[in-house]
Formats: sequence, structure tokens, C-alpha cells
Amino acid sequence: MFLCRLARYGLPGRVLRGTAARPLGSLSGCRRPGLSLAQKSPGLASVQSCWHQTMMAAPLPVTSCRVLAVKARHEERLVEVVWEDGSTSLYPYTWLRDNCQCLNCTLQSAQARSLLFSQLDIHTGLHTVQVNDNNQVSIVWPDQHVSDFELQWLRKRCFSAASRQAMQEELFVNERIYWDSKLRIPSANFEEVLNDNKAALAWLLALKRIGIVYLRGAPSEEGQVARLSKRIGYLRLTFYGPTWQVQDKAMAVNVAYTSGDLSLHTDYPALHYTPGVQFLHCVEQAQQGGESEVVDGFHMAELLRREDPQAFHTLSSLRVDFDDMGKDYCDFMVHSKNHIIDVDCEGQVSRINFNNATRNSVLDLPLHQVQEFYRALKAYVDILNRPKNVVTYRMEPGDIVTFDNWRLLHGRKSYISSPNKRRHLEGAYLDWDEVMSRLRILRKAVSEEDER
Ligand SMILES: [Zn+2]
Repeated sequence: MFLCRLARYGLPGRVLRGTAARPLGSLSGCRRPGLSLAQKSPGLASVQSCWHQTMMAAPLPVTSCRVLAVKARHEERLVEVVWEDGSTSLYPYTWLRDNCQCLNCTLQSAQARSLLFSQLDIHTGLHTVQVNDNNQVSIVWPDQHVSDFELQWLRKRCFSAASRQAMQEELFVNERIYWDSKLRIPSANFEEVLNDNKAALAWLLALKRIGIVYLRGAPSEEGQVARLSKRIGYLRLTFYGPTWQVQDKAMAVNVAYTSGDLSLHTDYPALHYTPGVQFLHCVEQAQQGGESEVVDGFHMAELLRREDPQAFHTLSSLRVDFDDMGKDYCDFMVHSKNHIIDVDCEGQVSRINFNNATRNSVLDLPLHQVQEFYRALKAYVDILNRPKNVVTYRMEPGDIVTFDNWRLLHGRKSYISSPNKRRHLEGAYLDWDEVMSRLRILRKAVSEEDER
């Protein structure tokens, strides 16, 4: 067992809301002392250490599920539940009636609501409430309909800010751990991830929280990213095919299909719904060059927000045209308008969309904003390119890097291939919905395995 380096550095056992900004250097403990990033092999940390950490952060604070008292507060139309530990939860009548778990109101086989909204009385009163013999909160409504609620089910859905935050963290794993060049990329064994639920869960939790995980020990032949995608569910088809071969190609349809330098970018900002997760498998490495680079785009966006708020505002409010055209899986002519920095309704950075190669010459801005746009983009790119922010590693045959394409920017150094050693990476995309679905299933499976 790898003792958790992350834990020693005080990473949170508590849950933070949203894409919380973690202080710079909070991952410094993730780097093996004395390991230089100039070294050819990446500074890898066991994903198990990250798993230990992230699993600790996940559980909801369900400490007690016994009830001391339950009563109706008719004036406020709230049911009050006093738990054994002395805390109180309040549940609106309307919400309780809406979420009745009975066979008439819920389709059990789908765990879906069969109560129609048009049938819901959003001003319902309440006849009686008590704890029944099955240790459920049992409500009789004025029309004599009965709703019974399991205590644990109710407790997890408590409306307090802390409970809601814990539930959101459990559902979405929102908390992010920011990093810079000192990151030791979490790593795991490819076959273990395919075959072991705990290893797979550790992989996906680290992928969500840190944004990049390295898998080693895959066969150095095509088909591995497809196998890995099946571990999740299915991959994301794009115009480059279900999987795609990154090689130096004649008449390249993409700048990635050359041997030149690739500056830091996210993939496919020419789509409005950009691929969430990317797998890249090294089948063959170049004779010389071809090192990979990654940077934490969210962290860098937060640095930009601090250093140059105007530039942050510009990149998160002006939409930029991107395009991509050619023929690969089939012919395509895609065009999008994206913010280079997407923020959600709470102001948290939620996605980076930037590839200088596919940024279109159409710039749909009034004249007076053009120079400010270039100034803002330069400010962000300068932060991305600071050596203290960039992690460099070199893939070897059998390595697979998996990363968050909504968050990380990645690049590549130019390379020289010899005829019998032709650099070849195979890639695939997935979307976050499918990845998070597998993460939740694995977490349930692992907790059930642990209970046995
Ligand atoms: Zn019902």
C-alpha cells in the first residue's frame, strides 16, 4: 500500500464547493523529492495514493439515522425531523409529496417519478406525520394518500447548505486539485484498471479531481483505447473516427498529423460540445523528440483572473470562432463560437476552449475590441507557457495518458522518426457524462464489496 503523500500535505478531507481554487503548490507533496521534471520519464505518483485521498473526501456526513422526534410545522408547511445527534432537518410539504416513493408515485423498476406534475398539488397540506414501525417517516396527506420515507434517504436529502454541498460533491465530484509543473502525474496499471473495480475507481476519481492519469503496461498495439473506452461504456465518435491515429501523414487533415511542434491546446474547440476526456496510447515513440506537455488550464485561468482581471473578463465573455474542415471519417466543415474560458453560473471556470491552429480568421468582434482580445489571449498564453506551470513527460510504447480535455491543455515537441521507428499514438474521446456514470457505478460497487 502506498502511503498517501497527498494526505500528508493536508489535502481536504472536507468537501469544497464547485471547482474550488486550491492554493498553488498544494500538490507539491505529490512530487518525489529530487525528481526532476527534465527527466525523460514522467514523475508519476501512484493513483492509489490519490484514491486513498479522494475516497476519504467523498462520503456524506451521515452520522446518525435515528430520529428523536418528527413533527409538522403547519404554518411554514415544513416537516421537522430531529435526528439522534441533535441536528434538525426541514422538508417542505410540496417536496415530500412530489417525491413520494410509493408504487403509484414512483416506477420502481426505473426509480423514476410516475406522478405527473399536473397531479401534484404544490399547496398541499398534511394530515399526520409520524415514525412508523418500519422506522420510516410516514406521512398521511389530506386525501389519505400515504408516503413512507426511509430515514437515510431523507437525511441525505436534507436541505441544509452543508448537506446539499455534500450531496453535490458525491454526485459530481466537483472539487478540483490544482497543480503546476511540480505535479507527479498519478499513475495506475492498465490491466488492473480493466479488471479491478477499486483500481478503476481510483483512476476515474483522480481523472476528475486532478485531470490527468497515466496508465502503464498496455500492449503496444492498436485497439487499447477502444478496450479502455469499453471499461467506461462507449467512446465519442467524431469526424476523425471512433479512434484516430496520430502520425506524420502526407496532406495532413490536422496539424497533429505532422511531426512539428504542437503548442498547448485543447482538442476540438471547433465543436460546441467539445470532447470531455481524451485517451492517448503510445504504440510507437519517435527516435528523437516527441515529448508531451500538459498544463492545468483551470488553474492558469484562475491565475489570470488574479493577475489580469480584465483579460479574464475578455476571454470569458467574448466568443471566438473556430473551424475545422476536411475529410477523414467522412467529410466535414464544422464551425463554432466558443469562449476561450467558459465559466458557469457561479463564476467557476468550467471549460477551456483553445486551439490556435483552428482559431478562425473570422473574428466576430467590433473593431474596438480586437486589440483587447489579442492582449487578453497573450496574457493567458504567457501564463500557460511559463516553465513553472508546464509538466513535460515522454510516452513510451504501452503508455496511455488519460486526461480532462475540458480542463487541460496539451502539446507536443517536434520529433524525428526513423523509417523503422515511426511515432504512432492512437487516440479516442469520451464525454464526461459517460465517465461520471461509470465513476458512480464503480463507487457503489466498491462500497458494496467493502461491506461484504
Ligand atoms: Zn405516493
